[in-house]
Amino acid sequence: MKRDLFFVIALLCVQGYIMVPEFWLPTTAPSAISQAFNVETVSTLVPQKTITPTPTKQPIPTFTAKPTSTPTPAPAPVVEHVLIVSFDGMRPDAIPAAPMKNLLALIESSAYSFEARTIAYPVTLPSHTAMLSGMCMEKNGMRWNSNNRYVGYSRGDDLFNLTHDANMKSAMVVGKDKLRLIAEPETTDDFEVRLNEALIADAAVDVISSGFDLLFVHFPSADARGHKYGWMSNAQFKALREGDEALGRLLAALDENGIRESTLVIVTADHGGHDRTHDGTRVEDYLIPWIASGPGIAPGELTYPIHTMDTAATVAYALGLPFQPEWDGFPVYEAFGLIPQDVHYDKVCR
Ligand SMILES: [Zn+2]
Repeated sequence: MKRDLFFVIALLCVQGYIMVPEFWLPTTAPSAISQAFNVETVSTLVPQKTITPTPTKQPIPTFTAKPTSTPTPAPAPVVEHVLIVSFDGMRPDAIPAAPMKNLLALIESSAYSFEARTIAYPVTLPSHTAMLSGMCMEKNGMRWNSNNRYVGYSRGDDLFNLTHDANMKSAMVVGKDKLRLIAEPETTDDFEVRLNEALIADAAVDVISSGFDLLFVHFPSADARGHKYGWMSNAQFKALREGDEALGRLLAALDENGIRESTLVIVTADHGGHDRTHDGTRVEDYLIPWIASGPGIAPGELTYPIHTMDTAATVAYALGLPFQPEWDGFPVYEAFGLIPQDVHYDKVCR
């Protein structure tokens, strides 16, 4: 008799004809997994106590897990050409001080840092070699700052080795002939030396018009004026404005040839300077700008440390060239809106 009564009460409870106190119901705490996936908690999926005789069955929810790890960066999108422009001896704070109007306008759409650093020997040939080889001096062997062909070219695989192996067209247009030692002649399709910014721009515009995959352009005059008249002098600012005008011509040439949208442009420097020198005794000698614009670039100020060897690694990443394990540089993934996988922490590159 008692058993029959129990079944009747139970049946009425199930049908909802008798309200069951809240504290009789199972209390299911939100599980960690449901919280992680930000879905409704299980307790809200229990059929509500209503007087409806035949409650409709709740659909079984399906969940899609959120990724828990950072995805591996995919190849940079639609970068078909890379233009690297190096202003010899350009301190980051000289850009607004000069002012360099074309470069300042470019920065508006760029990922940039005014606190990038060059190597522990902040002079022209070793610094540029690190920039384009992706390696410190200890590996690329470029420890001298003169056109010493008896001791030869930089060692290891630099950017130009990689573009040459990939049947890409590369060119260098520079203001100092010693920069020839950065890359073996057979790895560059064109190497031009010109006296000043305007003539360098002439030659570089010709390269752009004839087609290229990788073009390195070097403007020398800010360094020369710095040594003669002082860093941050009016004479140096004038040279930087001339270089800025030449930069404007290069960008215009990219537009005129219809490749601006597919060209990654990196503007940087080999070293800074103070007084009439860059002898490495002041931090201003080591600070360089690093400015990247073009396809896939996320504009804004970069926050992770950047060293000049990262330029080569970033270009290799952008052009889909094979990463070289011996390189000291890392691609600046942050410039593409990605989280860096490796960054430098107070690394001293010798
Ligand atoms: Zn220099």
